[in-house]
Amino acid sequence: MQHRIIVLGAGYAGAIAAGRLAKRLHREDVSITLVNAEPDFVERVRMHQLATGQHLKPRPFSEMFAGTGVELRLAKVTGVDADRKAVTVLDAEGTEELEYDTLVFALGSGWNDQGVPGTAEHAHEIASRPGALRLRERLARLEAGEPVVVVGGGLTGVEAATELAEARPDLDIALAARGALGDWLSPKGRGHLRKVFGRLGITVHEHAAVTAVAADHVTTADGASLPAAVTVWTTGFAVHPVAQATTLEVTGTGQIVVDRSMRSVSHPDVYAIGDAAMVTGPGDKPLRMSCASGVPTAWQAADAIAARLTGGKVPTTPLRYFNQCISLGRREGLIQYVTADDRAVRAALTGRLAAVYKELVCKGAAWSIANPTLGMPTRRRRVVQEPAQAASTVQAAA
Ligand SMILES: Cc1cc2nc3c(=O)[nH]c(=O)nc-3n(C[C@H](O)[C@H](O)[C@H](O)COP(=O)(O)OP(=O)(O)OC[C@H]3O[C@@H](n4cnc5c(N)ncnc54)[C@H](O)[C@@H]3O)c2cc1C
Repeated sequence: MQHRIIVLGAGYAGAIAAGRLAKRLHREDVSITLVNAEPDFVERVRMHQLATGQHLKPRPFSEMFAGTGVELRLAKVTGVDADRKAVTVLDAEGTEELEYDTLVFALGSGWNDQGVPGTAEHAHEIASRPGALRLRERLARLEAGEPVVVVGGGLTGVEAATELAEARPDLDIALAARGALGDWLSPKGRGHLRKVFGRLGITVHEHAAVTAVAADHVTTADGASLPAAVTVWTTGFAVHPVAQATTLEVTGTGQIVVDRSMRSVSHPDVYAIGDAAMVTGPGDKPLRMSCASGVPTAWQAADAIAARLTGGKVPTTPLRYFNQCISLGRREGLIQYVTADDRAVRAALTGRLAAVYKELVCKGAAWSIANPTLGMPTRRRRVVQEPAQAASTVQAAA
């Protein structure tokens, strides 16, 4: 009997975990099914580029996973029964239940409208490809001088505002931030951000929490009205609702609570990675939703599953930050170096070199997805026992 592993979601985390599992476990012993709603990989970190009209390289999963042993299942996950160990999926043929022995939950996240009135009706989002394409189409119809407000002064808002301003210098771009612009950055990083925003002609509204969105303006907490033919909403991400509807232990926001090996604290056959997981990192702080966190959580989960199935010792993948890589359009960037728990240190790389660095990071992430089983040695081991009874014996296979 093969051990059935199902990975839900082929984003950065799920795709990497599936590829790594295929590299770690003997094909005769396991089946690895990767379930994803879309037939190709979505580079979420480039959604602001897609929204501003840039072409993104197509990355079909059928090519990426060909010959890897990972079976791709194109379907929408509609439910997980963690007690019966079954997943419900929906595709053109209808609904089907898939049973698993081990589940890796990596359904990621979408935009978070924070319940602000008018947001769902009037604002645009760039957390998903449909959202970015909708914004792209709307921007194409805007005439010179029309106002665009980007709401949210975090990494996504900063990247979106600068990308927009660079691509469409004819528009009147503004950013509304709850705090001060780049207030989490080092003095050098903050200074650079202000300089680039100034050069690109972006108006910054600081300490301006947006409390309502209408078709042609947004309202801030102090009652000000900012004209907005288009509002781009970037105030954080919300996780997929599927997990919250299960008996898995989740946080108030629906992230699955996991231990250091990414294993659910309530259901040992379930692992959660990427944005879907609540992972405690250095300094006992939760990891932030990002590829920077998601990729090492995928390595950790895959290695832990492989070790437990083969009776090996569960390795500990470092979960820490090194830098925040921020694009400021295509020609400018900011690499803010940080402590292990993501606090800015003095050093920061700026300018053209930072833009190149950021581009290499994005390319590297996409490369490792597009070549899921390359770049690491093959060490396929035989499954010796069910995970719950894993002993310390390991039978290495060729
Ligand atoms: C504009 C933008 C810029 C960003 N820039 C950066 C950056 O510079 N650095 C960084 O570290 N992070 C960045 N992020 C954040 C980063 O993209 C996410 O944290 C990351 O994508 C999370 O990876 P994931 O695998 O957990 O989820 P996702 O990448 O969201 O993947 C989830 C997968 O699950 C699939 N899925 C979802 N629901 C279902 C369902 N019901 N059924 C089947 N399949 C489903 C999706 O199609 C997708 O393939 C950025 C995000 C955005 C939007």
